[in-house]
Amino acid sequence: MTTSSFPFLDTATLRTTIDRLTPEMIDMLSDFVAARSPSGAEQPAAEFIERTLIDLGLEPERIVLNSSLLESNPLFSCPCDPDNGRFNLLARHLPRSEGGRSVLFNGHLDTVPTGPEALWARDPHEPWVQDGWLYGRGAGDMKGGIVCALMALRALREMGLQPAGIVGFNAVLDEENTGNGTLATVHALQHAMGKARLTDFDAVIIPEPFGETVMSAQVGVCWMFIEITGKPAHVAYMNKGVNPIEAGIAIMADLKGLEAEWNAPEVRHPAFRDVAHPLNFNLGRIDGGEWNSSVPCTCTMGIRFGFFPGVTAEDATRAVTERIRACATRLNPDLTVEISSRGHYSPGCEYDLDAPAMQVLAQAHEKITGVPPERLACTATTDGRHFALMTDIPVTNYGPTARNIHGIDESVSIDSMKRVTATMVQFIADWCGIEEYQA
Ligand SMILES: [Zn+2]
Repeated sequence: MTTSSFPFLDTATLRTTIDRLTPEMIDMLSDFVAARSPSGAEQPAAEFIERTLIDLGLEPERIVLNSSLLESNPLFSCPCDPDNGRFNLLARHLPRSEGGRSVLFNGHLDTVPTGPEALWARDPHEPWVQDGWLYGRGAGDMKGGIVCALMALRALREMGLQPAGIVGFNAVLDEENTGNGTLATVHALQHAMGKARLTDFDAVIIPEPFGETVMSAQVGVCWMFIEITGKPAHVAYMNKGVNPIEAGIAIMADLKGLEAEWNAPEVRHPAFRDVAHPLNFNLGRIDGGEWNSSVPCTCTMGIRFGFFPGVTAEDATRAVTERIRACATRLNPDLTVEISSRGHYSPGCEYDLDAPAMQVLAQAHEKITGVPPERLACTATTDGRHFALMTDIPVTNYGPTARNIHGIDESVSIDSMKRVTATMVQFIADWCGIEEYQA
């Protein structure tokens, strides 16, 4: 039997408290999802979170995105949208007395496009609950995880408690296409541009929806735009033309060969040894052509490719560029190929799950669920890389279970959100300590 200092977190009380707060949690997430926030236009969701943080008695700071301050940072990605005065929101719960250990919950406000809304069971921006899942664009990725973090503070207060260390909440823009939002906060913290400091935090948890796993590593991700110009002609004289769309398809097929080479077992990063297909090359967009009976003039392709931690974005981009150019030359020397980088330019990273804070998180998960968390080597990128590569602060991703993120009928499990909220409360109690709530 261990002795606990007062106040004490009782797990049974925590469970009943979270049960009682579940309608509030669902309402908060529903309003958050309804506040549309596609990458580049996150303002409605930012304003919703600003109000929510104020309602929680916190004082959110706006961290305005200023790309010119970030351009020289190796983690800066060429923006897909203008800054437009967009801002992150950073708020801190401050304890009564200094000294407790601290944590920052970091989550992104932006969401990916819905795809054809007709394919959804209902309007993706009018969230609905069905069979224990809350549906809507962004419900899983990752508004649900942000709500878990906010509800953890709410649940503590409902029990008459509060964290005995600083607990930060950072809601950022532009994660899905660049990561420049979190970069802006880390930059502001490092340069003491606001009230908060990087030294305020000695752990970071990113509640991305990876099924209550803790993340051990993530791949690097780069975006690339390939503009191919051929030679237009009437199809009656097709052999006088050069078809850039057909060339684009052939180039993509060739890139799949490079993808296979990079995934080969003998060259795999050890963290990804047990992952079936860690590196994915995706043709996400294609535009081109004017007329069914004309050999087209141009074809533009937007691709995304993965690469292992330890490889720089620059080296990965160079290798893919060389492969594309060699293929185009083989196909037809008359093809013109322009390649540009815009969007993700994001190296991979590993997470130190042996760091004390990460051990405490794993133990908190086990206390709540009865089993240790699984470790995930992630085949996507997350904003965890900024903390892992730019700071000494231990960081990982830990968030609820979601379905169909980036797909149709995205949803998040309400039971999983409740468990993640409970784990976050347990983590706060074990890592930061708790004290009596003071309004
Ligand atoms: Zn996400």
